[in-house]
Amino acid sequence: MSIDPERGTSGGTGRCLCGAVSYEVRVPLRDVLVCHCVECRRWHGGPGAYTAAPRADVTLSGEACVRWIDSPESATRARRGFCGSCGSSLFWDAPGRPVINIAAGTLDLPTGLATARHIWTEQAGDWEELPH
Ligand SMILES: [Zn+2]
Ligand SMILES: [Zn+2]
Repeated sequence: MSIDPERGTSGGTGRCLCGAVSYEVRVPLRDVLVCHCVECRRWHGGPGAYTAAPRADVTLSGEACVRWIDSPESATRARRGFCGSCGSSLFWDAPGRPVINIAAGTLDLPTGLATARHIWTEQAGDWEELPH
């Protein structure tokens, strides 16, 4: 499946569980990549599902509440952003990339997005049901 950034969306809004952090994206969002890598698994308690948008097109509200940790084994030196109040996972950000990845589950519905593909399936938990 291809990733079509123009498909069916003109952006969107989202927030963490407690609402201390919210965001608005004013450009089309990327379709969702579902990541089964071990770091996403530990971080999310399951696969990570991410959309993405250029950093400059993401407006954050409550940014002071966002905490960042380095993703320890990341080959891309990525860091993960979460709400310091409720702990919701919100962002995956790697230096040098034009976009910031946004945890798709934090988007308000309807998103107009589809799952583009599953990645890092070889690291999936043995309890996961993977698509064929
Ligand atoms: Zn929160
Ligand atoms: Zn991952």
